[in-house]
Amino acid sequence: MKIKLDRTKCDGFGFCAKYAPETFDLDEWGYVSLIGAGNVAPEHEDGVRRALLDCPVHAITELHTHAEETAAR
Ligand code: SF4
Repeated sequence: MKIKLDRTKCDGFGFCAKYAPETFDLDEWGYVSLIGAGNVAPEHEDGVRRALLDCPVHAITELHTHAEETAAR
């Protein structure tokens, strides 16, 4: 799974880092940056999906590869 974070949308609610601390790093003001350039290990995907759904400003999006999109059609 690969995700993208739009830091211009992030409002520092911190939910993402609570659900997936191995993927989201909070700075001292509560704003996040991605650990590992958005590449999420399979064992961390559940927490990241929860963060994705709960982010109040939808700053986190899942990126789909071309192969995944083709398979979904
Ligand atoms: S949940 Fe969304 S708004 Fe909150 S810190 Fe994470 S990315 Fe930012």
